[in-house]
Amino acid sequence: MPELPEVETTRRHIAPYLINNEIKDVLIYKGAERLAISHTASEMIRELVGRRITNLERHGKYLLFLLDDNRTWVVHLRMTGALIISKPISPKQKYERARIILDNDNVLLFDDMRKFGTWHIVKNIIDAMPKIGPDAYSSEFTVQWLLEKLSQRKIPVKSALLDQKIVAGIGNIYADEACFDAGINPNRSSNDLSLHKVKLLHGSILSVLDLALGNGGTTFSNYRDGYGRAGNNSINAKVFRREGFECSRCDGTIVKIKLGGRGTHYCPSCQK
Ligand SMILES: [Zn+2]
Repeated sequence: MPELPEVETTRRHIAPYLINNEIKDVLIYKGAERLAISHTASEMIRELVGRRITNLERHGKYLLFLLDDNRTWVVHLRMTGALIISKPISPKQKYERARIILDNDNVLLFDDMRKFGTWHIVKNIIDAMPKIGPDAYSSEFTVQWLLEKLSQRKIPVKSALLDQKIVAGIGNIYADEACFDAGINPNRSSNDLSLHKVKLLHGSILSVLDLALGNGGTTFSNYRDGYGRAGNNSINAKVFRREGFECSRCDGTIVKIKLGGRGTHYCPSCQK
């Protein structure tokens, strides 16, 4: 699933083609109508056509297209969604579910193999992303905030990092990588971390996200950026999908366990 670095990479790629341009036409292909959540697919097409995109922002894994009628078109890519800038005459792609045609004749493709991606058009963005916490890159996501939220819960640290109410933007890859970077066992109880460990974890979250963003995101299977290319960050994964490999920090071997139903990778020797 695209996480903060992948969604932010997409945002940076596609924004220059969209901002201050008008949506001339929208196609939602047969069989893909369920992407439209706040409206039916045909209503959503009607609502979007003629609107000018005034800005493109991001909160966690959500893309927020600000429209000139003060509403926001909110897109979540979920498992396999991708937004890709394309040429006007490009043929329909295999997993293309929708197509947005702009008045500058650029085309934005919504590609989504698994079809879990969602679209909302809302006046208040909270209606599209209820109960969401601060974005990992926002000034509200502080050591103090993280300490307070972790101490209020008694769940594995890994599960806490996946909770978008605690911090928005982290998914399975960067939760595992941040725990490794901080030397914290992902199964350790969230309320058991000292201030020192929470400081380390907060710094590790930001550094693994920065590294991934600098490399255009991580592609293990499906993720494609705003130009349709894979991200280059998978070479930087220290634990994710590295079970059976030697740890890069000690003599241990990376293992994979199930934690809260999610595959979790860590080094039992140096993550205590
Ligand atoms: Zn190790």
